[in-house]
Amino acid sequence: MKAIRVHQPGGPENMVYEDVPMPSVGQGQALVKLRAIGVNYMDIYLRQGAQRSTFPLIPGGEGAGVVEATGQGVTEVRVGDLVAYTGAGSSYAEHVVVPSWRLVKLPQGVDASMGAASILQGMTAHYLANSTYPLKAGDTCLVHAAAGGVGLLLVQMAKMRGARVIATVSTSEKAKLAAGAGADEVVNYTEQDFEAEVKRITGGKGCQVVYDAVGKATFDKSLASLAPRGLLALYGAASGPVPPLDINRLGGVMSLSLTRPSLTAYTATREELLLRAGELFSWIGSGKLKVRIEETFKLSSAVEAHRKLEGRLTAGKLLLVP
Ligand code: NDP
Repeated sequence: MKAIRVHQPGGPENMVYEDVPMPSVGQGQALVKLRAIGVNYMDIYLRQGAQRSTFPLIPGGEGAGVVEATGQGVTEVRVGDLVAYTGAGSSYAEHVVVPSWRLVKLPQGVDASMGAASILQGMTAHYLANSTYPLKAGDTCLVHAAAGGVGLLLVQMAKMRGARVIATVSTSEKAKLAAGAGADEVVNYTEQDFEAEVKRITGGKGCQVVYDAVGKATFDKSLASLAPRGLLALYGAASGPVPPLDINRLGGVMSLSLTRPSLTAYTATREELLLRAGELFSWIGSGKLKVRIEETFKLSSAVEAHRKLEGRLTAGKLLLVP
């Protein structure tokens, strides 16, 4: 089969479209013929070698397609089912083998493109807004990179829970998209000091929670944007990893909390996975939640997709099709 492989950690040009052996299905696994593959920022960290992976590797942790074969003991899906998944690797390929318990059957009204466009970023937004800090009416949250894949979904889910949303973005086009997703206030953090803007907007009170996946460039001001007893959910590092922190910075009168959550931990059981994916797909199917697909590339053009994502040139989701 054809796949994208990375032989050495490095830039997008290190991704090679080539023939690789077809994966074989084992016990508790299913073979999925992919129809759409989600591109995520974490694919960039993996390609760069930030996760101490073994090379060569096939990047990608999200996709949707049809089950072609199942191994022994598989009960969750059958051959012919249209499924989506995240939390299983090697997705930049024509076929993938996935532990069957990670597969979610797509309901009517959610096709393979929508499944691959939403399952990872959608469940991430879901756990951040509903579990890491369960937002409620009266809360103000700050969502960084609000026109991004996770960002646009998180803004919508925060509004569904009744919170006030302050969004940050880097361009006026992205500002329009964040406002369209429901953000109450949008700050261009490349032109304005977002900490000062948060203070102004909240009358000096600060936010109950900051959702920050930009990392190094925003971390200090994110901490400073919190209200007393506020929570900083640092869930990514698009601008680079945050350096080691003196824990005393959280203390004193502010009594802040810091968490570094991951989707893996918030979908660690089949029950929790199905709960989050079930709500996500029902909102998408009913039109309550909008998923913006920015662009769909051929699998062989994954290099181009990575260049755009890394270059901050996207809003919403990028997909690959085999
Ligand atoms: P996005 O579509 O949000 O793309 C990243 C965005 O980050 C850019 O569009 C850009 O928005 C912003 N950004 C700010 N500074 C930089 C920089 N120096 N270089 C590149 N981008 C920058 O990607 P995803 O939705 O796939 O992921 C968003 C973040 O969420 C990532 O950090 C990812 O690792 C994290 N994540 C974490 C998960 C978890 O469970 N912990 C799960 C899923 C994603 P702008 O131009 O507006 O600044």
